[in-house]
Amino acid sequence: MMDLPNCPKCNSVYTYEDGSLIICPECAYEWNNDMESQLDEDKQVIKDSNGNVLNDGDTVTVIKDLKVKGSSSVIKIGTKVKNIRLVDGDHDIDCKINGFGAMKLKSKFVKKV
Ligand SMILES: [Zn+2]
Repeated sequence: MMDLPNCPKCNSVYTYEDGSLIICPECAYEWNNDMESQLDEDKQVIKDSNGNVLNDGDTVTVIKDLKVKGSSSVIKIGTKVKNIRLVDGDHDIDCKINGFGAMKLKSKFVKKV
């Protein structure tokens, strides 16, 4: 069952759903439930190669050999990366890898442990 949001006007918790509308019985305010899905879109969700949602502080492993830009080093498949930090951009994971230092990775090349 879906959790209904509190009334945005009077903050009542006794809201109920009527079709696509949410109705507050206390102040009679009605609004469209789409508001919630819009909020979800604003919050960027970053997923790993399996579609699992990643969070700051997660541990992931690399699922393919990754060349390190500007060097001949390769981050090997299976390398464990602890305490990732999610960032905006093409490379959406900020992290530190033992032996490499600070790195940026793409979420599609990792999986959550
Ligand atoms: Zn209300």
